[in-house]
Amino acid sequence: MNEKILVVDDSHFNVRILSDILEAENFTVFSANNGFPVLEMAHTLQPDVILLDIMMPGIDGFEVCKILKSEYEVRDIPVIMVTARTDGKDIKMALEIGAFDYIKKPFDEIEVIARIQSALRLKELQDRLKSLAMKDGLTGLYNHAVLVELLEKEVSKQRRSKGNLSFVMLDIDYFKKINDTYGHMAGDRILKDLSNILTASVRKGDIVGRYGGEEFSIVLPGAIRDDAYNLCERIRRSVDEHEFSIGDQNVKITISMGVFAHDFDDNSYETEIIQKADELLYRAKKNGRNRVEVM
Ligand code: GH3
Ligand code: MG
Ligand code: MG
Repeated sequence: MNEKILVVDDSHFNVRILSDILEAENFTVFSANNGFPVLEMAHTLQPDVILLDIMMPGIDGFEVCKILKSEYEVRDIPVIMVTARTDGKDIKMALEIGAFDYIKKPFDEIEVIARIQSALRLKELQDRLKSLAMKDGLTGLYNHAVLVELLEKEVSKQRRSKGNLSFVMLDIDYFKKINDTYGHMAGDRILKDLSNILTASVRKGDIVGRYGGEEFSIVLPGAIRDDAYNLCERIRRSVDEHEFSIGDQNVKITISMGVFAHDFDDNSYETEIIQKADELLYRAKKNGRNRVEVM
């Protein structure tokens, strides 16, 4: 639970003072003595707050802050500028380029902690809103819009590196009958449990999303056809064998899957990945359901 604070200051003395104040409050402190490693540290450590000195040799705090605010993965980490100057112009500049707040040297312990707590409250709210906007409310998986966006990102990544990517469309068989027989709430329970099975079946870096209704998608970056097929067969089998418990009853379901595997090494570039997977899913339904069709 210990929040991570990244302290950036060219003065070892200031880093020491701030670390002491923060560690006394049980924060986990990381530090840098110049601006250059900050971007990478922000990416790898994902600190909750960054305390950033303005006046540093090489690259100053303003520049570092600008870079942080331009990078998607780190832009939401609140930056608190640390300044010796009481010049209003500096503070105006800091806030304009996206700093959340500022702290003046010499440090007042109570003020430092209070400003960090306030930044942490903002961060928590922001994270909650981001999660609400990106995740499907019922299953907690990525929603349709985010799924498509992440697929596109992975496609351009694999295209650049001439890698592989497989995309899976998955649909529950005769789900309407489940709802009709056991009720909509029971259906919801099954959707949640199935999501957990999917998430537990994939590797880190794979992307699971709710495409819509009782359809799910999985993006498998780097996966060649055989790997994707084997994974889907494994998922199909474990769902087939699973007893979904609804109150005091056990319910069985099956799923059908379409798997489109693409090798970006050859020159043709497939743009209709979702459509291809969907066609394969349709074929799986037509060929009897509870099966995987791959291309
Ligand atoms: P098929 O094997 O061809 O896929 O048949 P199916 O009955 O699964 O397909 P159909 O598309 O006819 O029905 C899908 C059903 O999924 C109908 C819809 O009410 C249900 N469904 C969609 N979203 C939800 C949801 O969030 N919760 C519940 N409980 N049911 C949902
Ligand atoms: Mg269905
Ligand atoms: Mg459907």
